[in-house]
Amino acid sequence: MLHSLRPSQFVPERLVWTRSKCPECDRQFVIAAGFMSLAHYCELETGEIKQGLMCFCSTSCLLHWQPSMLGLMH
Ligand SMILES: [Zn+2]
Repeated sequence: MLHSLRPSQFVPERLVWTRSKCPECDRQFVIAAGFMSLAHYCELETGEIKQGLMCFCSTSCLLHWQPSMLGLMH
């Protein structure tokens, strides 16, 4: 579990104010206003399960996204 969900702790200053698209709801948001999560995902090319930081527009999107990915792993 991460100690902070604040993107400014993980993202370089120059990128914090850029826009990103939420992987859950496809909404555009400023990274500084989003929430980071250490997520597991399946790399399409190799089929490997990997870990990476992802940025979501809200904590509810963050929480909704995880179960759908876990479902894909079975
Ligand atoms: Zn979202």
